[in-house]
Amino acid sequence: MNLIPPPTQQISSEILTQAGVELFILRLDLMHPWVNGNKWFKLKYNLLTAKEQNYTKILTFGGAYSNHIYATAAAGKLLGFHTIGVIRGEERLPLNPTLSFVVEQGMQLVYIDRDTYRQRHTPELQEHLRQRFGEVLIIPEGGCNVNGVRGCTEILSEVTAKFDTVCVACGTATTLAGLTLALQPQQRSLGFPVLKNGDFLRQDINNLLTQYLDSGLPVPANTPAPWELVCDYHFGGYAKVNDQLVSFGEEFTYTYGIPLDYVYTAKMFYGVMDMIRKGFFAGDRLLLVHTGGLQGNLSLKNIKRAG
Ligand SMILES: *Cc1c(COP(=O)(O)O)cnc(C)c1O
Repeated sequence: MNLIPPPTQQISSEILTQAGVELFILRLDLMHPWVNGNKWFKLKYNLLTAKEQNYTKILTFGGAYSNHIYATAAAGKLLGFHTIGVIRGEERLPLNPTLSFVVEQGMQLVYIDRDTYRQRHTPELQEHLRQRFGEVLIIPEGGCNVNGVRGCTEILSEVTAKFDTVCVACGTATTLAGLTLALQPQQRSLGFPVLKNGDFLRQDINNLLTQYLDSGLPVPANTPAPWELVCDYHFGGYAKVNDQLVSFGEEFTYTYGIPLDYVYTAKMFYGVMDMIRKGFFAGDRLLLVHTGGLQGNLSLKNIKRAG
């Protein structure tokens, strides 16, 4: 699998100059046409573990538009795994662009109802799936485990730009945890939850960091750097958008030639730009992680307009 090292791009504008802010964008979206973004980093050590333990089948979970399902199907095909995607909800035909793609990659799809889906972390459901599919390595939804965190500690390894604050959109915050473990003590990370009431992630982040530090896996920095969440830019909740966000995304792409997805990156970029305008980052050097997810834009009509 040929992955391009993610380039860092600096953008400039009047607002940035006035605020005294330097802004760099780390383009994880450019690493590979299908296997890109933070989802590759979260998969990397999960798939290496599967190889080491001689698994030939991978099973994982996600919604019908999931970037994680998409990346797992593509990486699985390229690395020679049979993949099984357990999809939340009922089958809808014709398949949406995400699921058509994963089926083309050879992923086997299984649909489970929303109540059963909530049990996805329980040993009972996992045992049931193992009985049905045989020897499978089960990767949690979104690659949210210590192996996922480990991959994310490598996201910054190609970055040479000098920055103080790294910003990332958060779903499970696995990516934020990995980034935080790779920073220097004078740097910090800032997460932008895309779900409503994102404060609950604080506990999850502490758990991920503790689990990781207890796991004996390599730790790039001695202690996790300071991290913080900005919970005000969820736009009504997961996969919800409004006209303001859509115009922002379109204008940003037009101005800088950088496409954003509306579920994750557009919300974080909007938040950062808004905070810069309000004077939050005066004198700061920011690194925004473009975590990919652009495949989701093919299903834009799924995205709900809030209010
Ligand atoms: C999954 C995803 C995220 C969130 O990653 P977490 O590690 O779950 O916080 C951010 N951006 C994009 C594009 C994603 O697909």
